[in-house]
Amino acid sequence: MAYAMERGVVFFDTAQLYKTYEYIRAASEKTGIVPVVSTKSYAYDTAGAKAALEEARKTLDRDVIDIFMLHEQESRLTLEGHREALLYYIKQKQLGKIRAVGVSTHNVEVVEAAAEMDEVDIIHPIFNISGIGINDGGPKEMAAAIEKAGKAGKGIFSMKPLGGGSLISNYDDSIRYVLGNSNIHSVAVGMKSRAEIEMNLAVFNGKEPAPEVIEKAALQNRSLHIEFWCEKCGKCIKRCKQNALSMENGKVKVDGAKCVMCGYCCAECPAFAIKIY
Ligand code: SF4
Ligand code: SF4
Repeated sequence: MAYAMERGVVFFDTAQLYKTYEYIRAASEKTGIVPVVSTKSYAYDTAGAKAALEEARKTLDRDVIDIFMLHEQESRLTLEGHREALLYYIKQKQLGKIRAVGVSTHNVEVVEAAAEMDEVDIIHPIFNISGIGINDGGPKEMAAAIEKAGKAGKGIFSMKPLGGGSLISNYDDSIRYVLGNSNIHSVAVGMKSRAEIEMNLAVFNGKEPAPEVIEKAALQNRSLHIEFWCEKCGKCIKRCKQNALSMENGKVKVDGAKCVMCGYCCAECPAFAIKIY
């Protein structure tokens, strides 16, 4: 993170759930650079929202949080269910403790609903060329919802341009697809090495990455992970032509010797529970 800050990355996306406030703070202290930080919480009521905001302010050592969002909203109904927390964040914005409030989502319906809500400043939708992780549509439907939100004046920063790592083999097209959407103001990309930072910086600045940077990033060891929220539906196992996945003792297991990191199983997963990193 410190390296990224020094190279000009000025916007960091996190969440109460991710437990990364301390790392962002440490990188900021190390570099003397204060990036924009966007965070989010699953809180649905005043008490939970207050605790989440205070945790962020204290652990990041900041009086003001740049962006605070409702995390992973799934429908208009979920937005309604989190209304109390949203109202708390809006109140804190008026008091100067938050600069902007928003919602993060994997659902087209939520982007459409949030576009109509005057009180929402920022929308953080999942968006990628294959529609991986979009729960209720594909890239076309999400692009239309994003356009509607853009016309409504929302700040939009998308997530998962590489579908959680599964589009890495189609890196160029995938990144350029998202960057080509003029309604998206910023893109959150997961990175774990200096080579990946350099590669993304080049592409985001409209340049070709140096061949040695591409080689380094490509050589990085990757592996497939099944997250704890896997619903054990078995769709990924059926999809894998390499027979790299199996169900053992109620858990999906990956055979690293057989997995070729094609990412096809990721696109099948209804829970977005498969990641390559
Ligand atoms: S990434 Fe490809 S090879 Fe690996 S488990 Fe998924 S479908 Fe199978
Ligand atoms: S497709 Fe996703 S939810 Fe279903 S078993 Fe595989 S990892 Fe779990």
